[in-house]
Order: sequence, then structure tokens, then C-alpha cells
Amino acid sequence: MNPKIYLSSPHMGGTERSYVTEAFDTNWIAPLGPNVNGFEESLENYLGNDSLVAALSSGTAALHLALILLGVKNGDEVLCQTMTFSASANPIVYQGATPIFIDSEEDTWNLCPIHLEEAIKDRISKGKKPKAIIAVHLYGMPYKIDKITTISEKYEIPIIEDSAEALGSTYKNKKCGTFGDISILSFNGNKIITTSGGGALVSKDSKIKEKAIFLATQARDQAPHYQHSEIGYNYRLSNICAGIGRGQMEVLDTHVGFRRTMNQFYKDLFSKTEGVSVFTELSKDFFSNHWLSCITIDSKVANFTPDDIRLALGKENIEARPLWKPMHLQPVFKNAPYYGAEISENLFKNGLCLPSGSNLESIDRKRITKVLLKFT
Ligand SMILES: *Cc1c(COP(=O)(O)O)cnc(C)c1O
Repeated sequence: MNPKIYLSSPHMGGTERSYVTEAFDTNWIAPLGPNVNGFEESLENYLGNDSLVAALSSGTAALHLALILLGVKNGDEVLCQTMTFSASANPIVYQGATPIFIDSEEDTWNLCPIHLEEAIKDRISKGKKPKAIIAVHLYGMPYKIDKITTISEKYEIPIIEDSAEALGSTYKNKKCGTFGDISILSFNGNKIITTSGGGALVSKDSKIKEKAIFLATQARDQAPHYQHSEIGYNYRLSNICAGIGRGQMEVLDTHVGFRRTMNQFYKDLFSKTEGVSVFTELSKDFFSNHWLSCITIDSKVANFTPDDIRLALGKENIEARPLWKPMHLQPVFKNAPYYGAEISENLFKNGLCLPSGSNLESIDRKRITKVLLKFT
């Protein structure tokens, strides 16, 4: 059997191990230390726009702290893109709040501005103004920043920008991860860069960064003994993991380039196939890191389904997967309110994620081509 080709697997640049070794040599084996500070600084420089970064144990932890920092409490409502990974929505429930799910729009697959505004008006008319908007850059594709930000400002509802999949993406030449009132990043094993597990909270306000680190390190008050006036969390990133992150930052842009090469590879492969579209940017304002390359299939035209491709690839030990199943279709969220048409439902029905890793080589592309040629 040929080795497995994954959708997205860790891709080390080469210097990661030296940062980790340094942590061992200096005994900084803790959730603090020079790698944590160095990783934060390197992210701050990369993102620009006066971004301040708190390195955390996961993207999910970052979302949870973002909700706490925006004052989301028991009984509140939070607007959230329905088409996303469950980690975007779960922290709303950790806070005892209710997620209000919003459909996608066709161009970016992200928050639909029309349904977002419809939901805000309806929730306000029912007596409850939502406390925050969770907007996601799905598969690395920026959401319509201008439109969503305008709605956020009009109704004075802050944005939590879930940029877990979009480090390296830009909108009008500004980096994703800098558009929210609070933004979050993920460095899980399958993301664009990885620390094996990790995340970050991004803001422009030094008080928010300080408070995030305070909450992430068990909310210890200033005192020689252990004193607490608030509930804390154990959410800080380890100095070992941060060492991997420092090495990964050195290759981030190169790896974004490789992912974009994979996207172009699929565009070329399906260029003459009727009924298959490769997901891509709608204009020059949008620059996607193409974390995952996705296709949608009009089965009536193409005469095959996403599952036909997925199963054919699977037989050759090549991974493919349906798009994110919308949250309002998930059993665990079946009672949550939802505003939309059926855009996300249809994307889920007709879409497929294809192998997209920055570490895929021409021998891998040959194996993928061999299977996919039967469908072109
Ligand atoms: C991966 C991911 C997260 C969660 O990040 P973790 O680091 O895995 O906790 C959140 N939102 C989206 C959209 C993601 O893809």
C-alpha cells in the first residue's frame, strides 16, 4: 500500500527542533519562557497593524477567552457562522450563552451579511441584543470584511474573528487575524502552521492581551500567596510548543505558497470539467492561504457525486472529506435559532475537501491525478 496522503498534515521547516532543544538545554519546560515571548513577537511582527498576541493552548481556548473578555455570560446570545468547525461555536455554550447560527453566502462561503442583519434585527425585536458576532474565514478564505464590519459598527456588536484557518490570508493586503475586535488563531496539527497544539488571541489593546494572559494562567492576583478574585483557566501555551511555532513562522509564507500551488493544481486538473468548480477568490481584494482546497460538484451536470470522488481516492489511500457540516444541522445544536436560506446545506451536500498540504510533492500529485483524471 502506498503511504497515506492526508488533507493537511504537519510540515516542519527544519529549525523547530533547535528551539525545542534550546528549551530543554535551559530547562524552560513550562507554560512560559523565551519561546513563548519569541513566538508572540514573531506573530505580532507578521500580523502588523499594532497587533498584540497572547499565545494560548488552543484556538478553542482563545475563542473562550475572547467571549469572556467581551462579557458574554449565562443567558446571552452570540451570532455565529453556521458553516464552520464546532470549535467556533462550543465556547459560546461553555459560557452558558446561546449560539444564533447564520447562513453562508455563495461567494466566500462565510457569513452572509443579509442574514446576519436580519438575525440582529429579529433578536433585538425579541428583546435581546446579541453580545458578539463570530465570523470565520473558512478554508482560509476571508469573509466580506467591509460588509460585516459595517454591520458590526451599525449595531455596536463586536466581532470575534475566527482566523484559525486563515493565518497568511489577506483582505485588501491586510492580514487576516487583524480585523476583529478580538481575533483568534489556531496552531493545531492540521492547520497552516502547527505547534502540535496551540492557539493565540489577537487584539490591539494591551489591556486585553494582559487580561487574556491573566485569565489563561489561573487568574492569580498580585500576592506572595495564591490569591484569586476571579475564575481562572489553564490556557497558556507551553514553551516547548512555542519553540515549534517559532520555527514554523520562518516558513509560513513559503508554506502558504505551496498550498496555493495545490489549489492551482486542482484548477488546472478540473479546468475543462463541466459541473466541477474549484473554490477560489472572488476578486483581487481577497487572498486565501488555501489552507484546504475544496471543490463543489453539480452532480447532474458532472454525472458523479462528491462521494464518488471521495471513495475513489480512499481506495488509493488518499484522504478527502466533505465540507464542514453546518452547526444548525448538528444534533447537539438542533434547538439553536438559525437564520438563512440553504446555502450552507447545499455546500455541505455538494462540496469536497481535497489533499492540500504544503508538504505534498509531485509524486503525491501524480497519485492524486491518476484518480481524479477519471472524473475530468
Ligand atoms: C481548528 C479550528 C478552531 C479550533 O482551534 P483548536 O486550536 O483546534 O482548538 C476554531 N475554529 C476553526 C474554524 C477551526 O478550523
